[in-house]
This record gives sequence, C-alpha cells and structure tokens, in this order.
Amino acid sequence: STNARVVILGGGAAGMAMANRLSRRLDGARISLVEPREIHHYQPGWTLVASGVWHPDKTVRPNARFVPAGVFWVRQPAAGIDAANRRVELEDGSSLDYDYLIVATGLQLNYHLIDGMSPELVGTQGIGSVYASLEGATRTRDAIDAWIAQGSGKGIFTAAPTPVKCAGAPLKMTFTTLSRLENSGHRDDFQIEFMAPGAALFSQPWVNDFVKQRFDDQGVTRRHHYRLSAIDPGARQAEFVFVGPDSEFTSHHQLREAEFSEEGQRKVIADYDFIHVVPPMSAPDFVKESDLIAQAGPFRGEWLDVDIHTLQHNRYSEVFGIGDVIGAPINKTAASVKAQAPVVEDNLLAQMQNQPLPARHNGYTSCPMITGIGKAMLVEFGYDNDLAFLPSFPFIDPRDESWVAWTMKDRMLQPAYYAVLEGQA
Ligand code: FAD
Repeated sequence: STNARVVILGGGAAGMAMANRLSRRLDGARISLVEPREIHHYQPGWTLVASGVWHPDKTVRPNARFVPAGVFWVRQPAAGIDAANRRVELEDGSSLDYDYLIVATGLQLNYHLIDGMSPELVGTQGIGSVYASLEGATRTRDAIDAWIAQGSGKGIFTAAPTPVKCAGAPLKMTFTTLSRLENSGHRDDFQIEFMAPGAALFSQPWVNDFVKQRFDDQGVTRRHHYRLSAIDPGARQAEFVFVGPDSEFTSHHQLREAEFSEEGQRKVIADYDFIHVVPPMSAPDFVKESDLIAQAGPFRGEWLDVDIHTLQHNRYSEVFGIGDVIGAPINKTAASVKAQAPVVEDNLLAQMQNQPLPARHNGYTSCPMITGIGKAMLVEFGYDNDLAFLPSFPFIDPRDESWVAWTMKDRMLQPAYYAVLEGQA
C-alpha cells in the first residue's frame, strides 16, 4: 500500500495503458490522468481510412470507456512541468504536485516547419497527410479520390527528416495509392515520386531494400536527401532542400546544421497534382520547454530524456517516459507501447521501494507494412534491428506478402490495441 501521488501526462495508448495497470497494482495511490480529449483515436486505423478501406467512425471510442474507476481524470491539457519542484501546471492556471510522473503525451506534428503548410490545408489543393487527424485522414482519402478521378497527373509522396510515429505510414500511403491507381486502369497516366530526406526509406535494412525494389518495380521515382521545406498550395508547387548525403537525422537541430553545409543550399521546385505531406515531429512544446527534455546527444531539445531500456528519466529518477514522446532511435508505435507498459510498471514499482530496476525494454516494434490493398508483411524488430526478432507469429514468414498479414491489420490489431489500453496483454 502506498499514498504516493502519481501523475500520468497524456491518456493516449501509453498513458491509458499505464492508468489501468497502475490502478490495479498500486493500492491507495492517488493517480491522476491528465488528458483533455473526450475521444480516443485508434490512429493505426487512419492509414486504412485515408486509403478508402475503413469508415472513419470505426476508429473512434469515448475515453470514458477506458479510464479506470478510482483514477482522477483531469480533463484539460498540461501547460508546463516544473521538474525541480515535482509539479505539473495545467492550462487553467492550477497545478498538480506529484511524487512520481509518467510522461505519455505522444508527439507533436510540426507542420509549421514547412513554409506555407498548416494542418488546415489537408484535403484542399491536392494536399494529403495521413498524420494530421482523423478528419485529415478522411480528407486525404477525398483528395486522392479527386486526383484519381482527374485521370492523370503527378503525385509526390514525402517523408520527414525526424523520427516519426509509425515510420511505415508514409510508405503504406504510397503503396495503397499505387494499388488504387492500378485498379483505375490508368496507372500509366500518373507519375509518382517519393522524396526521402535520407538514404534509407525505413530503418530496418531488409525492409528498406524490399521497399526500394518494390518502388522501382512499380515505377515510383525515388529521390534521396531532400526534405520538404515549403509548399505553395495555390500554385501546387513544393520546394525541397538538399540535406546532404549522409543524413540520418534524429533532430531538427542536426538538420538545420546540415542544411548550411556546402551542399545544403541546393533546392528543387516541383509541381504536383497531389502531395502527401509528412511533417517533422518532436515532443510537444511544453515538454521541450521543461527540464525533462534531452540536453545533449541526438535527441537534444526535441525528445524526452529517458534511458531507452529502463524508460526512467536520465536525470529525475521519479520520472518515467513511455510512447512516442521518448528519445529513442526507433519504436514510435502502439506495438512498442504494448512492450513498454509492463517495463514502466515494474520499474516504477521498484523505484517506489528504492529497489534496482528489474525490467528492460528491448526496443520491440512492429509494423504491418501494407504493400497494396489486400496485401501486407508483418515486420517486427527491436534495438538490434533483427527482423526475426521475437516473432509473434512464427508460422508467418515476415518476408512474405500475404493476405493473412493484411487481415491482421484489417481485423485483428484493433481489438489487441484496446486490450493494451485496458492494461491487459
Ligand atoms: P498518443 O496515442 O498519440 O497519445 C498521446 C495523448 O496525449 C493524446 O491522447 C493527447 O490528447 C495527449 N496529450 C497531448 N498533449 C497533452 C497535454 N499538453 N496535456 C495532456 N495530454 C496531452 N502503431 C502501430 O503499432 N501500428 C501501426 O500500424 C500504426 N500505424 C499508425 C498510423 C498512423 C497514421 C499514425 C498517426 C500512427 C500509427 N501508429 C501505429 C502509431 C501509434 O498510434 C502511436 O505510436 C501510439 O498512439 C503512441 O501512443 P502515445 O500514448 O505515446 O501517443
């Protein structure tokens, strides 16, 4: 039994899973869950919404269904974290003191770092972005429909120069659009370009090679080392900046530094009929402004400073991080949240008893890589990048594109995801 005050910031996949786990494990603790939204979004479903496969309503559930009894739900955003004084400031000016803090705010979409771009533009002027929101995913679907109905034209698909959630999503959007163009019977009347900020399209080498080969086979023109820097919606033009040949960027700072290198000044202006925009991503501003943000290393100024294995903050032992907000090289997926939640639970309990932390996260992440409508590959890996890493389905060879893997994405992952929110699995 404990009377500790535990504050969980954010009630998405990670925060909700922790609220459920801790309310069961911690007898007597005062647990507050800070989450402004009434609605929980099943974001992995947005790819299927934007591809015209799912109805948008299928991805929405009320948060009230998941918040456990006994957890105090603070229905407003956090506005600041005073880590030295163990205090969270809320939007209405009040504050919450904590003994233990779990940062699970997810990440921030930085559309504003692309000149001329804003999330409101998604769905207008041939602009799509699966990440923007559920409405954005729906309007992306409509923009792709309108472009296909046009009968010809050029589509540009982009990737971001920062870590992103579900790193496969920009590739999946390209593949499902290719399927739809092929089904329209007019594939040859459309040009498709993929603009990548780095040499790789995906961190896992085998998947990277596979996707590159598949893009080449399907007539997708690849250009590497370019990031989307500006967009002119009226003129349907996009500006890309060359970011150097060895760019494996983990933060916007590094990117800015590289851009001012010798080659950094080269720009390309490209016309498009449709563009899929993937914004740079980072921790939310209020986390960046706190002392919890990484002070050095590749995640400096952009991501939460945690030990990537124990998920404990590197400088504040009473603070843990989970989900998309953490500074880690891979693994911004709900599948990683599932693997991280028991680690944070066990380590937080040990920390409360001043015991050594018993649990370690191995970086597990997985991604049903959709390679067309009705086809997918189940890709699983961890910090050591091994493709055959702890396969959940040993009977499926991850290298096979199969209807089985598609069916998992289409039918089986959503119930498994809700089980994670409920603190099971
Ligand atoms: P989120 O689930 O985003 O939750 C963050 C929560 O914090 C939100 O509820 C938000 O309201 C809250 N919050 C934000 N700011 C504040 C604040 N100031 N104060 C309080 N609360 C705040 N994952 C997979 O495993 N497989 C997939 O196939 C897959 N596909 C994806 C496709 C798309 C298009 C997208 C967008 C994501 C996909 N993901 C996928 C990733 C997955 O959705 C995320 O990794 C997962 O939701 C991370 O959980 P989280 O709790 O860290 O963040």
